[in-house]
Amino acid sequence: MGYDLERFVGYVNEDLLCCVCRDVLERPLQAPCEHAYCSACISSWLVHHRSCPEDRLPLDVGSLKPLFRYMRNDLNRLQIHCINAGQGCEVVSSLESLHTHEDECEFAFIPCSNTDGEYICYHCGCPVQVERRGLEAHLSECNFRSRECPNGCGHILLSVSQSQHNCVAELRAEVEMLRCMLCKVDEMRREMESRLDSQRRHMVQKESQLKNEVEELKDQLSRVMCDMRTLLGAERLRRQELAEAELEKRELLELLRDLQPTRSQHPTEPTRHHEGVRKGGTRSLTLDCIKRKTQEVTVI
Ligand SMILES: [Zn+2]
Ligand SMILES: [Zn+2]
Ligand SMILES: [Zn+2]
Ligand SMILES: [Zn+2]
Ligand SMILES: [Zn+2]
Repeated sequence: MGYDLERFVGYVNEDLLCCVCRDVLERPLQAPCEHAYCSACISSWLVHHRSCPEDRLPLDVGSLKPLFRYMRNDLNRLQIHCINAGQGCEVVSSLESLHTHEDECEFAFIPCSNTDGEYICYHCGCPVQVERRGLEAHLSECNFRSRECPNGCGHILLSVSQSQHNCVAELRAEVEMLRCMLCKVDEMRREMESRLDSQRRHMVQKESQLKNEVEELKDQLSRVMCDMRTLLGAERLRRQELAEAELEKRELLELLRDLQPTRSQHPTEPTRHHEGVRKGGTRSLTLDCIKRKTQEVTVI
């Protein structure tokens, strides 16, 4: 719906009137036939028609475009009275800045601010609509204004319910509620304590079990250490024996090597073994000894 022609100051070009409502264009759109309409007017027209309301040429929503720029400029420059002129607002502004003014016009009716949710009984907030300039005066006497109880009970009261307020009853109810909460807290505390107790018992049990296990492991460890020491001792002894046997073997092998060639190459060499060789019995005894030692070494 357009702006009432009566509100405008001076002459308004006929091109700036809506072809549907005959008022001054509001949020205008233009058809290919160059006729212009308020967007709300042409939208509802096209619900039942498929043509321009002015010349009946075919028309659909998709072919509507913004108004020519020069027409838009003309429209924006039009001077119009505030919508609250009836309440006394004398402001005349360009159509372009009309909304800026109307959004903060002192003569505009607005709902009392005690309708929002920050009050105790917001379901029954203040139903009063006041002019913006009179809001402050209204708030000072609004039935839904809130303030602290004058008797000092600490409750926030709406003026509308102040007469029914009874400090003692309110405080009694509050004490009752707190007592109830305290009971619940106490119950919770007891429950937590019993849960903690059982956990503690469990932990103690677990601890002693672990201690036992540790003791057992310590025992095992010391036994293993003992075994290891014995084994190491035995090993050391064996190594020693092995080394000794190896030494003996080497000596005997040397001796054996010496025995064979000396008979032919150095017949005169006066060695202890030579003598043994000459006496047949001693010789075979030495060879037996060598064999035995070699066997021993192999076993080791
Ligand atoms: Zn219109
Ligand atoms: Zn047309
Ligand atoms: Zn105004
Ligand atoms: Zn109010
Ligand atoms: Zn009170």
